Amino acid sequence: AKELGKNRYSVYTPELLVDMVYEYRLEADLRKALENDEFVLHYQPQIQPQTGEIVGLEALIRWQHPSLGLLPPGKFIKLAEENGLITQIGKWVIYEACSQNKKWQDAGMAPIKVSVNLSTQQFLTKDLITFMKDTIERTALDPQYIVVEITEYMAMEYEYSLNVLKQLKAIGIGISIDDFGTGYSSLNYLKNFPIDYIKIDKSFVDEIMIDHNNAFIVKAIITLAHNLQMQVIAEGVETKEQLDFLINQQCDLIQGYFFSKPLPANEIEKKYLVQQK
Ligand code: C2E
Ligand code: CA
Ligand code: CA
Ligand code: CA
Repeated sequence: AKELGKNRYSVYTPELLVDMVYEYRLEADLRKALENDEFVLHYQPQIQPQTGEIVGLEALIRWQHPSLGLLPPGKFIKLAEENGLITQIGKWVIYEACSQNKKWQDAGMAPIKVSVNLSTQQFLTKDLITFMKDTIERTALDPQYIVVEITEYMAMEYEYSLNVLKQLKAIGIGISIDDFGTGYSSLNYLKNFPIDYIKIDKSFVDEIMIDHNNAFIVKAIITLAHNLQMQVIAEGVETKEQLDFLINQQCDLIQGYFFSKPLPANEIEKKYLVQQK
């Protein structure tokens, strides 16, 4: 086993080296991306299925890389979490989403909620609450139109998370549990945390028409959420069959390619937002 350590570098194939150089460059570029204003938010509608009314939008980050084109979060969020840049990027996301939402309201659009994804690191930073309050003040957005999406992992620091969520709630911000059912945490937090929405993960939605067990799980999540006075958002809904099943099960909101992919702000405005009467 000792020999292995010595020969470690010999396992680097040319392909691996290319990957390493690529990642190294990407990290250097990522450090400059904020100051160069290269991030953009796309927004995906959350629709009330009976009326077709748009209730909310989820803000999803993309990186307009100068030479690689528009990169999805899967290409850089993990890197940003590893090198700590995620906290700054996350602040940009919150500010941008709030200021965009306020612009729409100022332009006379019927108000809707905008959800932002919080990374674990961002959720654990000491100044999250101060930053949220500052952002609300600077953008003058009514906090009832902001929702934060957190994951079950963040519920594992039980006391700490409960305290943060109570403060967010006190400000008037909505709270959503993302990717519900995919984490390792116990269900215990559900009854004590001030949660407004549960998002059923796409992995369950994908198979509701194929796998009876997944259909039962989706039914059970909806019943559980409703008993706890929470609303349910199904994500990754792509087909009419999935939509019909979810409507039958009283799912409150639908998000997925069936209605729309995430779109830039100007397209959302054209296709989905309506002037308030
Ligand atoms: P997520 O929060 O679970 O977001 C949903 C993802 O599913 C989005 O991918 C969305 O485009 C995709 N999606 C929605 N409906 C469908 C569908 O019907 N079919 C398929 N195939 N996909 C669908 P996206 O935009 O690539 O984001 C991936 C993940 O990156 C997000 O998963 C979230 O965890 C993370 N992310 C995105 N924006 C941010 C951000 O601003 N901050 C942080 N920390 N993470 C972000
Ligand atoms: Ca999300
Ligand atoms: Ca999700
Ligand atoms: Ca997901």
